[in-house]
Amino acid sequence: MVSENTTFPPGFVSIVGAGPGAIDLITLRGRAALGEAQVVIHDALANTDLLHFCPSGVEVHDVGKRCNNHRTTQEQIHGLMIAGARAGRRVVRLKGGDPAVFARLSEEAAALEAAGVPFEIIPGVTAACATAAALGVSLTSRDLAPGTVFVTGHECASRAAANPVDWAALAKLNMTLCVYMGVRELPAIAEKLLAAGMSTETPLTIVSNVSRLNESVRNGMLADAAAFSTEDIDQPAMIFIGAVVGAGRSFEIATAASSALGPAQTRVL
Ligand code: SAH
Repeated sequence: MVSENTTFPPGFVSIVGAGPGAIDLITLRGRAALGEAQVVIHDALANTDLLHFCPSGVEVHDVGKRCNNHRTTQEQIHGLMIAGARAGRRVVRLKGGDPAVFARLSEEAAALEAAGVPFEIIPGVTAACATAAALGVSLTSRDLAPGTVFVTGHECASRAAANPVDWAALAKLNMTLCVYMGVRELPAIAEKLLAAGMSTETPLTIVSNVSRLNESVRNGMLADAAAFSTEDIDQPAMIFIGAVVGAGRSFEIATAASSALGPAQTRVL
C-alpha cells in the first residue's frame, strides 16, 4: 500500500514514528514506508516486531542509545541515513513514539538537508498520548487543566547547563505535566515541585510499558513520589502529574496481564 501524500523513491529517507509499543499503533503511512524499506535504522524504544512489515532482506541497524552512554553516536546515525540514501536505497529511520518529541528530529532533519538527501517525516503516537488513552484521562480539561506540558525529567549534563528545566515555573502553571525520561529523577522532581508550592495531594501516575503486554500503572500523590523508590519502576515509564490524573490515594499496581480488558484498556483509577 502506498500512502496518498507520500512517495518513497530510491535515495529517500522516511523518518517514521513507531508509536509507543503496540505494533498496531503505528500509522498506516508509517507501515507503508516500512513495507518498502531497504534499510531500517531504529532506536531502542521502537518495537522490533514492526520489522515484520519490511520486505525480506531488509538491512537493519539498531542504534538505540542512552544519554551519556551512546552506543551509536548521533553523527554515526546521520552517516548511516545519508550513506543509505546516496546508495539509492529507501531508508526508514524508525523512532519510538513521535519523531518530534524528545527524539532529536531537528538534528537529523538538518543533517539530511545539509547532505541534500530528500526526506519526509511521518508522525507517531507519542507516549503521553498513549498513556492518556491507557488511563482513560484527558490531558487537557476545561475545569482542571488549561493545557499540558511535555517535559524531560532527565538532565544530560550538556542540556542541564544550557537549558535547565524550570520546575518551579512549571509548578505554577496548573497544567498536566507529562514527564518523559523521569523515573530516576522523580524524587528530586517532586521535591522541586513541592518546594515551589504544588500541593502534596496533587495526583500522580506512573505508567510503564504503555500499550505493551507488560503495561503497569501506579497511582499516588506528589508527596508519595518525593520518598519513592524508583528502582521498582519498569522502564520505559511515563509520569503524569496533575489534577486530570484523578484522585489516586495509594500506590497500587495493575498489570495488563491481570486485566481482563487487555493492555490498551487497563484502568485502575
Ligand atoms: N519519541 C518518544 C519519546 C522518546 S523519550 C515519544 O514520542 O514517545 C523516551 C521516554 O518516552 C521514556 O523514558 C518514557 O518516559 C517515554 N516512553 C516511551 N515509550 C513509552 C512506553 N511504551 N511506555 C511508557 N513510557 C514511554
